[in-house]
Amino acid sequence: MITVLSGGTGTPKMLQGLKEIVDPEDINVIVNTVENNYFSGLYVAGDIDTVMYTLVDIINDEFWHGIKGDTYITNERLRDMGMPELLLIGDKDRANKIQKTLLLREGYSLSEIVKIQCEYLGVKSKVIPMSDEDSDISIVTDKGELSFHDFLIKERMEPEVVDVVFSSVAPAPGVIDLIRESDMVIIGPSNPITSISPILNMDGVVDALKDSYVVAVSPMIGDGAVSGPASKFMNALGYESTALGVSKMYESFLDKFIIDNEDAGLKSEIEKYIDEVVVCNTIMKTLDDKKSLCEKIL
Ligand code: GDP
Repeated sequence: MITVLSGGTGTPKMLQGLKEIVDPEDINVIVNTVENNYFSGLYVAGDIDTVMYTLVDIINDEFWHGIKGDTYITNERLRDMGMPELLLIGDKDRANKIQKTLLLREGYSLSEIVKIQCEYLGVKSKVIPMSDEDSDISIVTDKGELSFHDFLIKERMEPEVVDVVFSSVAPAPGVIDLIRESDMVIIGPSNPITSISPILNMDGVVDALKDSYVVAVSPMIGDGAVSGPASKFMNALGYESTALGVSKMYESFLDKFIIDNEDAGLKSEIEKYIDEVVVCNTIMKTLDDKKSLCEKIL
């Protein structure tokens, strides 16, 4: 059994390869929830939806959110009516988010709802939210404190980042046991600050990882992130935005670290922190790239 810790872009790309070479029933995915929030009256658990859609091959993998081929009739109508619609949410994707919102209101936990939606979609792997508790994340910038999505979308990641602050939450039922019972835990190439740190920060997670075999793929290649704001966040928290910086963050529990060919020169330095360092192509463009990266991980 393999357990993957995931955000919403890099790790889902990796999952596309993993599910081709490992029985999906042997894969568990613990997904970041700290960026979940209400938009347009809907509860949006962006990373969870991306992981579920990825596992049944309906993800829109041009944007890494939403459903491939979805329509945008409701979104266009609402915009026309003068509503802000900060996120571009398609119609089928909206149905999924409406169901989450309604069931949360009825008192279901997020884990229970994700289980119901996985059954509906035919997801064979176990997908669990890192936490059932509400959480919050804000980005402290030179323009003041911004919500994560305002920083990402309204401000286009431009402000200088001074700090990243998120709430501490308790792990969802089963999270710690899954980590402990797995033959391997994979930390995909996800944003170390906003996707992985919130999971690591929960009570019991780092201790469970120390007792497990953990492999991570660096989301940093050369002097920065492949995509998204991770470099700015790493720098703000005092880490260099390189594979070496990531290795220092994961040092206390990581057994094997996969870094990109471009970073071969960092291998011996990183070996001071991590027992086994593997150098290979980690840029995932084709399905073959994704599968061969997963073979290296396994
Ligand atoms: P978010 O929720 O959208 O921030 O997505 P994640 O946390 O899952 O992942 C974003 C991280 O994935 C970024 O830091 C990227 O550098 C990394 N990433 C995206 N694509 C690739 C890739 O093909 N290879 C590697 N090594 N990292 C990637």
